[in-house]
Amino acid sequence: MIELRKLAKRPGGASPWAAFRYREVGGSVLLTNHLGDWVFLSQEEFLAMARGEVGEGSALYDRLASKNFVRDRIDPEQAADRMRRKKRFLDYGPNLHVMVVTLRCNESCVYCHAARADMTETQTDMTPEIAEKSVDLALQSTSPSITIEFQGGEPLANFPLVKHIIEYAMVKNRAYGKRLEFTMVSNLALMDEDKLRYLIEHKVQICTSIDGPEAIHNKQRILAGGNAWRESVRWIKRINEAYQQLGLDPVLYHVEALLTTTRAILDYPRELVDTYVDLGCRAIFIRPLDPFGWAQKTARTTEYPRARYLDFYRQATDYILELNKQGTQVLERFGAIFLTKILGDDDPNFLDVRSPGGAGIGQIAYSYDGKIYTSDEGRMLGKTGDDFFCIGDVHTSTYRQLMTHETVRALTLASNLDAQPDCVNCTYNPYCGIVPEHNYRSHGSIWGRMRESSMCAVHKGIQDYLFDLLRRDDPQINEILRRWTTIRERSHFVQESSAS
Ligand code: SF4
Repeated sequence: MIELRKLAKRPGGASPWAAFRYREVGGSVLLTNHLGDWVFLSQEEFLAMARGEVGEGSALYDRLASKNFVRDRIDPEQAADRMRRKKRFLDYGPNLHVMVVTLRCNESCVYCHAARADMTETQTDMTPEIAEKSVDLALQSTSPSITIEFQGGEPLANFPLVKHIIEYAMVKNRAYGKRLEFTMVSNLALMDEDKLRYLIEHKVQICTSIDGPEAIHNKQRILAGGNAWRESVRWIKRINEAYQQLGLDPVLYHVEALLTTTRAILDYPRELVDTYVDLGCRAIFIRPLDPFGWAQKTARTTEYPRARYLDFYRQATDYILELNKQGTQVLERFGAIFLTKILGDDDPNFLDVRSPGGAGIGQIAYSYDGKIYTSDEGRMLGKTGDDFFCIGDVHTSTYRQLMTHETVRALTLASNLDAQPDCVNCTYNPYCGIVPEHNYRSHGSIWGRMRESSMCAVHKGIQDYLFDLLRRDDPQINEILRRWTTIRERSHFVQESSAS
């Protein structure tokens, strides 16, 4: 790699260049700046730039100026507007409110993140009183949009409470007029036609897990006395059919499925993609294992080096791009999150990949027992006996106390990439994000050490892959990648309640 420090300084004058970071990608040099603008230079161009040999008026000087790398050519007003737009999530407040309606679950997964309980353990069901207090706090959020996400355990195991939360929140929201949405994360095995009718009528988005083709899925997700894969697939098809019967566009309205990448799937990138496409899914989120829940206990059989994950990611995404070229519209979600920031000034507000991160200020998790955490990951750590991320209790905490809690303030600082050693100098700083809960679990500190962080390795590897694609400047690939960044409104899922 070129070492800028070893290069001669421009003789007798200040450098015209604005602050930038750089990294070698595919033999070229990638430069990025604070505004998220980027440019590829050849090694020779980069050396000329560093030596002060790029004169004003030259083609290279103008190219750099057009991307805001020349200090005197930056329009401060425009730069401020762009930065305000990129960081507008800071004006909101927590929009994601995770409600753990029970710990009971009918499946046991090798990597379970959710600290599950057996189906008989009804003492882990959230009570209506705790549910109402959770909704009351959620609606006090300063965010104009609120998503209540039903999690577990398996939320369908406590369906009466799910219904109670939906109906209570809709009534209460008449006074607040928030843009209200409901999402459920379910393995679908406890679904029936009555529950489905209710969920469809109440516009609840449904999200499930698919970990690969049948044999691999069933190895990760064990349904006692049944076949987890067949249950999921049966209901995915049935729900998608129900959306179509309502006249909804299947491109926008379909069951979202999430992948947890375990060692078992690493040799089958194409089979994974084909499975998702055959199920009618338009997005595949190639998420690595994380260290929460049981994942650490079962790491010996499920974990893998992150270099192997990145090989798998590249093979699967190359194949997704191939399918797109042949006319199948499907995207890789991790890539789409980064690309939205790389190719434009919007931030998709994905809470784990933003700076500062979403713990507390972007999301809150309400445990079945009334405890409140900065995130669902923090809640999972709480289940292992460490309440570091607990910031209150629905019975006693006020919204103000939650938002000004010292843990929330510490996490906001620790997830600010401009305050993180390594991230502050990283070329991918404008597009990246870190999760303090991950650092805490992996390194014992909310700050973590990015050089040893598996999360950083994943983020860096994916951005290397994406920038290498952009470096090649293939018009067909560029068009596909740009299409992945389009945020399409799914207004059907927004509730009709509004301020009276
Ligand atoms: S997490 Fe890693 S890739 Fe992301 S900005 Fe920090 S150092 Fe760079």
